[in-house]
Amino acid sequence: MKIAETFTQGSQPISFEIFPPKGDLSLEVAHSVARELADLEPDFISVTYSAGGSGNSGATADVAHMIQSEFGIPVMAHLTCIGLTEDALADRVADLKAKGIENVLALRGDRVAGCETTDYAYAKDIIGRLSDEGFCVGAAAYPEGHIECDLLEKSVEHLKQKQDAGASFFVSQLFFDNRYFYRFLEACLDAGVSVPIAAGIMPFLGKAQIQRMVFMCGASLPSPIIKLLAKYEDDSESLRKAGIEYACAQLTDLQAHGIDGLHVYTMNQPDIACATVEALRAQRGAAFRKPCWR
Ligand code: FAD
Repeated sequence: MKIAETFTQGSQPISFEIFPPKGDLSLEVAHSVARELADLEPDFISVTYSAGGSGNSGATADVAHMIQSEFGIPVMAHLTCIGLTEDALADRVADLKAKGIENVLALRGDRVAGCETTDYAYAKDIIGRLSDEGFCVGAAAYPEGHIECDLLEKSVEHLKQKQDAGASFFVSQLFFDNRYFYRFLEACLDAGVSVPIAAGIMPFLGKAQIQRMVFMCGASLPSPIIKLLAKYEDDSESLRKAGIEYACAQLTDLQAHGIDGLHVYTMNQPDIACATVEALRAQRGAAFRKPCWR
């Protein structure tokens, strides 16, 4: 199933991100995580990809295929182009097609040492190719701007280029303050970005994790989170619980504002997915607030 269709039905799809086997994570564990996520009946599950093909490039397609064929859940395989040659991209395309994958999240990937840009400088450079191959193509959006890009307007301009290249929906980078997302949607509308934009939410689970995320993607930390980090400095279990509750509150607020889609970075921890789905479904049926940015 083409994922873009789940947005056009206006049903606010709920989706999860999973990462494939890598390092200590075995295929068996990935399988059991996928099963638990599938039991929650999300609208789709996305499977991450290692930039530069380091370690798990084939595993992305394998795990996506397993979720689709075994559990009947639509999937989206991430694919990064940094370091890819045209021939290597053709191999990836052939592998995805052979495994029946219809949806791809087209990404550049983060710059990693030793992985030089080759035939493709930006995500937009592979979007047209993937679209011509018959894939339903999504791309990444940055509510606070991309970390390498100084101006939010430039980030939005680059988003529009991805739409013009054939991206039919976007999934956002994580953010901890919904006001940034709502402002971003305003800017996107002004710039002519008209395809659906799903909000990506990742709960904070601990101090080290949140520091790493903030450093990697430049998301702002609002004061309520800083206070929670201070309050539970020596109580990791309570901090984790508070992080999941905070993410649920973000998601229900986004749902109430009629956001196009809700994407949860589960970090392969099904209890996170379960808590978010319960919170969202409990709220469904309640009257939606009028979308605030239109
Ligand atoms: P691009 O859209 O190519 O942008 C990269 C940079 O170039 C940005 O600063 C952009 O503003 C700038 N730019 C774009 N076009 C132009 C232009 N025409 N001229 C000048 N500058 C331009 N990474 C992984 O390795 N694996 C994953 O599975 C993965 N999944 C992700 C899922 C989501 C939902 C998101 C939001 C990110 C994900 N990432 C993943 C991270 C992503 O690879 C990084 O954020 C990466 O640094 C940028 O990727 P992009 O596709 O947004 O790049």
